[in-house]
Amino acid sequence: MIAEVIINRSAKKLNRTFDYNIPVELEELVVIGSRVLVPFGKSSNLVEGYVIAIKENTTYEVKNIAQIKHNLTEKQIELAKWMAKRYFCNLSDCIKQMLTPGTKNKELKKNIQDKKINVVYLKKDIEEIQFDIDIGKIKSEKQKKVLQFLKNNEEVTIPEIEMFTGGTRAIIKTLEKNGYVEIVEKKIERDPLANKKIEKTKNLPLTDEQEKAFEKVKDKILKNEYEEFLLYGVTGSGKTEVYLQLIGQVLEQRKTAIVLVPEISLTPQMIDRFIARFNKEEIAVLHSKLSIGERYDEWNKIKEQKAKIIIGARSAIFAPTENIGIIIIDEEHDSSYKSEAIPKYDAKEIAKKIAKENNCPLVLGSATPDITTYYKSQKGQITLLELTKRANNSKLPNVEIVDLKMELANGNRSMLSVKLHDAIEKNLKAQKQTILFLNRRGYSTFIMCRECGYTVKCKNCNISMTYHKSINKLKCHYCGHEENVVTICPECHSKKIRYFGTGTQKLEQEINKLFPQAQTIRMDVDTVTKKNSHEDILNRFRNENIDILIGTQMVVKGHHFPNVTLVGVIAADSSLNIDDYRATERTFQILTQVAGRAGREKLEGNVIIQSYNPENFSIQYAQKQDYNLFYNTEITIRKQLNYPPFCDIILIGFNSIFEKEIIEVSNSVYNYLIQKLNNNLFTILKPMPSPIDKIQNKYRWRIIIKGHIDENANQILNECLQQVYDKNYKNTRIAIDVNPNNMM
Ligand code: ADP
Ligand code: ZN
Ligand code: ZN
Repeated sequence: MIAEVIINRSAKKLNRTFDYNIPVELEELVVIGSRVLVPFGKSSNLVEGYVIAIKENTTYEVKNIAQIKHNLTEKQIELAKWMAKRYFCNLSDCIKQMLTPGTKNKELKKNIQDKKINVVYLKKDIEEIQFDIDIGKIKSEKQKKVLQFLKNNEEVTIPEIEMFTGGTRAIIKTLEKNGYVEIVEKKIERDPLANKKIEKTKNLPLTDEQEKAFEKVKDKILKNEYEEFLLYGVTGSGKTEVYLQLIGQVLEQRKTAIVLVPEISLTPQMIDRFIARFNKEEIAVLHSKLSIGERYDEWNKIKEQKAKIIIGARSAIFAPTENIGIIIIDEEHDSSYKSEAIPKYDAKEIAKKIAKENNCPLVLGSATPDITTYYKSQKGQITLLELTKRANNSKLPNVEIVDLKMELANGNRSMLSVKLHDAIEKNLKAQKQTILFLNRRGYSTFIMCRECGYTVKCKNCNISMTYHKSINKLKCHYCGHEENVVTICPECHSKKIRYFGTGTQKLEQEINKLFPQAQTIRMDVDTVTKKNSHEDILNRFRNENIDILIGTQMVVKGHHFPNVTLVGVIAADSSLNIDDYRATERTFQILTQVAGRAGREKLEGNVIIQSYNPENFSIQYAQKQDYNLFYNTEITIRKQLNYPPFCDIILIGFNSIFEKEIIEVSNSVYNYLIQKLNNNLFTILKPMPSPIDKIQNKYRWRIIIKGHIDENANQILNECLQQVYDKNYKNTRIAIDVNPNNMM
């Protein structure tokens, strides 16, 4: 028998199968999905591959499969094949998502308990590293192997690297020196849940609305039928209680449940709610902070069907489970369900496919549903289930809007309006906690010469650099490049260099000046590090009863702070002024979520939103906490301008060190598509430099296509990619992303 094998390499040229003979002694073992070792090319080492088909004969002269490792199921291979087409990537990249991570290694785990360990992280973008490998900047095979391993596994220790890749400490140090990896010392805690006493909870008697929603989904569970539901209900309306009871039903049917949540809300408190209701042994938790050993254990717990409830971030959708009875996606509007790395998959889309195959319901939950999801519910493609009231009768917070233009007119140039200032003062006196939200890190946003308008831009990326006071340097938020502060304009030599805009760092300083008695803590990507997780900061805020938490986006997601009664939004406009059709949707979601942080329990909450555009409808409707009004306005605009859900946006991104080559490649793609795609159904925009036209010295161009992507269009795009790969442009990368999160 002959196996068609796909080689586990990212090179585009290897995205095809190679035939190998299955030796007699392996005939029983090799099936579709087997992970095998085969001789390949001139290398004397065996390389890894996956069997994706088996046939009787071949026209080639073939070598033998040397060894077999583990098996995937045929279903998983089918899914991977579908993904590779759908998301325009290599089959091996998709298969990797489904493999058991690492290898069992009790020794290693024992070793690291209660000690400090060195964890190795990639410091550069995966695509960036691949690029450097492709152009031969990284030559050493051993270095490549280590990088490959780090790419596939997070939270990896030096001994683990030594064990699995054969790489030495010296190799890791070289990679560190060359800026590819960083080594972080971490304290390992014992399993934090091990000794924790969690009081068991019982099913609560459901409210009428909850009951109605519950019965509709339960009916599908009992009948083994697929149906997609949107459970739309304000924060605190009891969505989680409905999930828990539905999972109870699924367990009774002896089936498994998959629950996806955004990575950032995968907190111990959240998991506790599941442990309180179900048996801890039946729950598997998958997230990126697990070590390989832990991940391996969780994965196996699922494979051996010991785990019945799988809770995890996006990639948990690939957990090796069969017999699925329900898939739940909480906070379904969250952008983290769409992968921005290869494979650029959409977990919601994959969940739908898996739910259909398993004949089980798919439940999407949100207080601010994705516009596209809600639109589908209006069109009858998704069944809408609504929870309109808060389950425990706690009140929605009072939300006020302050017009910053008026503040300026009244001579107030500080970051705080009079109203917000007074509210903070009052809250401090009452010994209640405050959260201040500002969607911009750093100190000032940019520096500009007031004579000639010169701004300092990153020489690698061509975007404005941000001033960071703590290091007194300008920093590029795209590539990390730092530069000294300028005081004299390099263009016109004037001294009128000024700082504009504000960031979290500056806000904290101002708050410390205005309220010297208040204790503050800041949370943004600069304070959240590998050592000091956002979880740690939030725990400190809660446990040490710190007065004011200042933070970016990270503060808004699903946390309960009983003592927080005031939330201030410093500039609601910052998310409005971005070049993206979802700017208003994101603004509405963020403001609604931020508002939800205030006064969740017995205390009344106040929210103050400061804005230069107080009349913008996303801000107005967030104040009213009225999703329906927002949706009705937004959907009309989307329709007028032809944006999703009325079409898909297909972004073809090009990336090259040579400008001439990028222009050539993008134009040839454009010409190909203009000929092949139906011009009545698709609008294809000419190739253009991306809004950020250079990152890390590589040019960036893009083609935008609007239209509904179907099988046929998908096929044409794949053929187009194949043509480009066949032409072998060495210095240009091309990637297709459908409805990307980031249009830049
Ligand atoms: P959501 O997931 O929509 O934010 P939760 O399920 O967390 O809402 O519910 C919010 C609060 O209301 C929780 O404290 C929960 O225990 C409580 N709750 C939910 N359902 C009920 C119910 N039927 N009766 C009483 N309390 C409920
Ligand atoms: Zn100047
Ligand atoms: Zn840069």
